[in-house]
Amino acid sequence: MSHIPFQLREVQRRISSAAEKAKRDPSTITLIAVSKTFSTEDVQRAIDAGQSCFGESRFQEAALKIADLRSSIDWHFIGRVQRNKVRKILPLFPTIHAIDSLKLSEYVNSIAKECGFAPKLFLQVDQANEETKGGFQPDELYRVFGDLAALSHISIAGLMTIPPAAEHSEDSRCWFADLRRLRDDLSQKFSIPLPHLSMGMSGDYEVAIEEGATHVRVGSSIFGKRAYHVEGELGSIA
Ligand SMILES: *Cc1c(COP(=O)(O)O)cnc(C)c1O
Repeated sequence: MSHIPFQLREVQRRISSAAEKAKRDPSTITLIAVSKTFSTEDVQRAIDAGQSCFGESRFQEAALKIADLRSSIDWHFIGRVQRNKVRKILPLFPTIHAIDSLKLSEYVNSIAKECGFAPKLFLQVDQANEETKGGFQPDELYRVFGDLAALSHISIAGLMTIPPAAEHSEDSRCWFADLRRLRDDLSQKFSIPLPHLSMGMSGDYEVAIEEGATHVRVGSSIFGKRAYHVEGELGSIA
């Protein structure tokens, strides 16, 4: 018997209770099951248990699974986006979470235009100014947001963060609250809706929901401990 269906239900239950605690409607929160490093069979187990939204961070690995699965899955690309992979990522992933520069956004927009895609993008924010992590600096985001919003073949879903590694989930709360304030302020200053916040992982998704997360990216709490590191993605916490 696989532990995946049970753990998935447990995560769903905890999402609902965190939402209720924050007086939010649980159906407004999307659980992205992060399946990087896990097998196609494991993804299938989660699909059989009712999960339809998955996140992957390495294109090659993801493409193999996507080809194997053939189900109608809502795939989210959550890893760092290399420019030379954009053409391949767009047909497979309707949503991309770690857009970290205006240049990359413009490039994604040009490929989307050329190939007829309309990707939803999350702008990753490097809140703690960490060298190992990609992302916009908050002040940079204010400078370029008008240009980002003017790109016509992408839609900006909202902001995304991977806060500094923390021992306790409460340590992440300030970063999550900070991202929400940044979102509210940008949205107001530029009069552009920014409905989504992609924040919270296995260690802290309940706190993220209390602070307004609409997309939580949860891997190990569903699939188990990862057997190997994913280099360079999460910096020091990978
Ligand atoms: C791996 C990964 C996650 C999931 O991490 P867990 O701690 O296993 O839940 C979330 N977000 C990103 C960007 C990741 O690379």
